[in-house]
Amino acid sequence: MMNEEKKRDVLIAGAGIGGVAAAIALAQAGHNVKIFEQAAELGEIGAGMHFTPNATRVLGALGVLEDCISIGVVPDEIQMRMFDTDEVILGGPASQLEEHFGSPYLVIHRADIHNVLSAKLLEVAPDSVVLNARVEGYSEDDSGVTLHLADGREFTGDLLVGADGIKSAVRRCMNGENEAHWTGDVAWRLVVPVSDLPAGLVEPNVLLYSGPGAHITVYPLRDGTLVNFCGLVRSDPEWRTEDTWIAQEPWEMLKADFAGWSDTIQALVDVADRDGCTRWALYDHLPISNWSSNRVTLLGDSAHATLPYLGNGGGMALEDAIVLTRALSQEGEIPEALQLYQRNRLERTAMIRNESAENGRKLHDATSAEEVSAGVLSAHGVDMGWLLSYDAMKVELL
Ligand SMILES: Cc1cc2nc3c(=O)[nH]c(=O)nc-3n(C[C@H](O)[C@H](O)[C@H](O)COP(=O)(O)OP(=O)(O)OC[C@H]3O[C@@H](n4cnc5c(N)ncnc54)[C@H](O)[C@@H]3O)c2cc1C
Repeated sequence: MMNEEKKRDVLIAGAGIGGVAAAIALAQAGHNVKIFEQAAELGEIGAGMHFTPNATRVLGALGVLEDCISIGVVPDEIQMRMFDTDEVILGGPASQLEEHFGSPYLVIHRADIHNVLSAKLLEVAPDSVVLNARVEGYSEDDSGVTLHLADGREFTGDLLVGADGIKSAVRRCMNGENEAHWTGDVAWRLVVPVSDLPAGLVEPNVLLYSGPGAHITVYPLRDGTLVNFCGLVRSDPEWRTEDTWIAQEPWEMLKADFAGWSDTIQALVDVADRDGCTRWALYDHLPISNWSSNRVTLLGDSAHATLPYLGNGGGMALEDAIVLTRALSQEGEIPEALQLYQRNRLERTAMIRNESAENGRKLHDATSAEEVSAGVLSAHGVDMGWLLSYDAMKVELL
């Protein structure tokens, strides 16, 4: 049972994966949570995501792993393939990850994991969600923090967590302008029905391809009825999206970006919805050295946005949620708790962000089997233990 003095009124800006996970963890620890989301309803768009054992361990602690597995896929194998021939260069059973790291490797649609998390939040904290609530900023003093919404409403609490993504209003209010920068890289993200593909093309495996200027991940979603294609391309730095960072582009551009790639890739591209080919601009953020004030902290992409080349941006947000909750239990005072949280997350999240950027370079430069093997081994294989063995529930907070 939580000591009443440590029971806090926590305001959370942003109901993405990070904000909702934090709200669940904090509510389960006995805090009162209110989460403010700019959108009119809870939900996510986008495509597939993978979650490595460090992240699925957190899903287990939140009590949602089984539901995620039932709607996602725990793949049979992870295969690194030659970009032009489909030849398998490296690979092995995905179950090895669970054997080594004690929690499964999971692939799941972004909307599905968000739905599972949202349902859990509404179960543990039924009145916690405020929709149509665009956060503009905050003010704080010794007695509390006040959240300012764009429509003029204000809410007070003991602390505020800015989980409002890469363009965070909370971060801007805390640290001044700190814009993400355009990397020139883009992501093509497609989800296609398995029934549109030749039988057996994509078994319940994760396929990774590294080729000239691009890197592709293919895996099944939604109990194997859909296939996710995420093609990360080093693009023309002149290519820009308008405000949204996402642009609808002609299918021919998608086809051209992967000309010369393997039969599997061509089959996936060929069944893509001609009117639904979206290119996402990939933005990066240099690690920041401070993301907490006395009563406000950041979590997830607002604190440490990363390129997706290690596929752990969402995983980091999940880990943050647990470490923040533990820090509030461990320290009596909020400013000390926020410092404890930040101190224990800065190095790891900067390392994941930096390794992700490095991986992008290695994977995009490899084209021969030898280069791909060397690139993948140096990027992923030599020692992933530091990434995958992390246990947010048990790591000592110093
Ligand atoms: C191509 C690509 C592939 C990826 N693949 C993976 C993967 O396989 N695995 C993985 O772990 N990660 C992956 N990521 C990273 C992952 O998507 C992010 O790290 C994760 O979504 C961050 O979650 P978040 O809750 O911090 O932020 P977000 O998901 O950005 O959520 C922020 C929320 O805050 C809301 N919001 C924003 N501003 C305001 C405001 N002012 N007021 C109120 N609400 C606001 C938004 O509407 C949103 O709901 C990928 C990213 C990309 C781009």
